[in-house]
Amino acid sequence: MNAPAAPPLKPFRPFKPLLPLDDALAQLLAAAEPLAGCDWVSTFEADGRVLAQDVVSALQVPAFDNSSMDGYALRAQDLQSGGATLRVAQRIAAGSVGQRLEPGTTARIFTGAPVPPGADAVVMQEDCTIIHGGADGQLAEVQVNGIPAPGQFIRRAGEDVQRGQCVLSAGTRLGPAALGLAASVGMARLPVARQPRVALFSTGDELVMPGAVEPQDMPPGSIYNSNRFFLRALLRRMGCEVSDLGIVPDDRASTIAALQAAAADNDLILTSGGVSVGEEDHIKPAVQSLGSLDLWQIAIKPGKPFAHGRIGQAHFIGLPGNPVSSFVTFLLLVRPFVLRLQGVQQLAIQSIAARADFDWAKPDKRREFLRVRRNANGGLDLFGNQSSGVLTSAVWGDGVVDVPPGQPIAPGQMVRYIPFGELLL
Ligand code: AMP
Ligand code: MG
Repeated sequence: MNAPAAPPLKPFRPFKPLLPLDDALAQLLAAAEPLAGCDWVSTFEADGRVLAQDVVSALQVPAFDNSSMDGYALRAQDLQSGGATLRVAQRIAAGSVGQRLEPGTTARIFTGAPVPPGADAVVMQEDCTIIHGGADGQLAEVQVNGIPAPGQFIRRAGEDVQRGQCVLSAGTRLGPAALGLAASVGMARLPVARQPRVALFSTGDELVMPGAVEPQDMPPGSIYNSNRFFLRALLRRMGCEVSDLGIVPDDRASTIAALQAAAADNDLILTSGGVSVGEEDHIKPAVQSLGSLDLWQIAIKPGKPFAHGRIGQAHFIGLPGNPVSSFVTFLLLVRPFVLRLQGVQQLAIQSIAARADFDWAKPDKRREFLRVRRNANGGLDLFGNQSSGVLTSAVWGDGVVDVPPGQPIAPGQMVRYIPFGELLL
């Protein structure tokens, strides 16, 4: 008898280790050259945009010494014995200017009004007794209770901002407080980075748009397209101008056509689904036929498949189809990418040490991002189902725990917590 034929050799596929998240992020950011040009927009409209040039103050803030209280401006030395009575010689409301304060007199003064020359302290009205009113209701004299300290209740000129000071630097993401500060130095318009133009589409023959079919009429095997809704909202929060190309069916020709159309006039094409390596995953060959592609298997959970490439001038990023994977990879990779396109430099995510009030006995080999929520005892509770398809976890949770590969967590242990607030802004 002949020896049985040896089984055919499997084709050799070199082992490609999963890419650590930090490496993927570094590669992505290195590819994200900031968009050229800037827009001057009304300060009213600049919330969430990224400053393209430094804002340098042309004045000092406050512009003049002013009172921080409603009360009486006076010379502290007139009151060294305490309980003195002063003649009210002038009245200075916010927006008006007083005269030099003569010794032995005081000025009725209101919050924000300039402290008159000669005065070096303000006494709040609660610490004064009106001795008697003057003619036509004007105050004539007040008795000051206590001994004022020189400088009290005076906000000094320039204590907030010096003339020539850079109050906001290029690359700053503008939020409400920054808009207020820009306005306080007289900026009615601000130079901001151009908004990245992003074309968004979802792939999947199973996808149906909410509204197109009522829940009771959904065909078997179909699901509603949820990724499109959160991805669009996330992109807009990150300052992008989104054009939504809808759902692209799982075939090569449609995928190529959609990518080609999107590449024409966008800085980024963002897709979800179809980025794995199954026969129904058409993104990879389609992007390769039009441009170049790096398909990464990132060592995180949720969110292993992730792709970056280029088609003409446009960047391409393919996110996984599973909703939680898509959500998490957006927060960890796409968010910093689109912010860097706008010139943001500070992209490090601040995690906080927090106590796990849960048990995570079977850690994955990949770095995991568990959906958790802070409890009233200052600890973190874990959402029961951490599956990458369970979007409820991202709504229930208020953040994620960043779990190093292979590390179990016992109740009471300190872990790295990243609030969603850190990732959604
Ligand atoms: P894929 O990455 O295309 O293999 O998809 C992985 C899983 O995510 C499948 O269960 C898909 O049905 C689901 N999925 C893909 N795209 C979406 C989407 N836009 N909304 C909701 N689920 C999706
Ligand atoms: Mg699919």
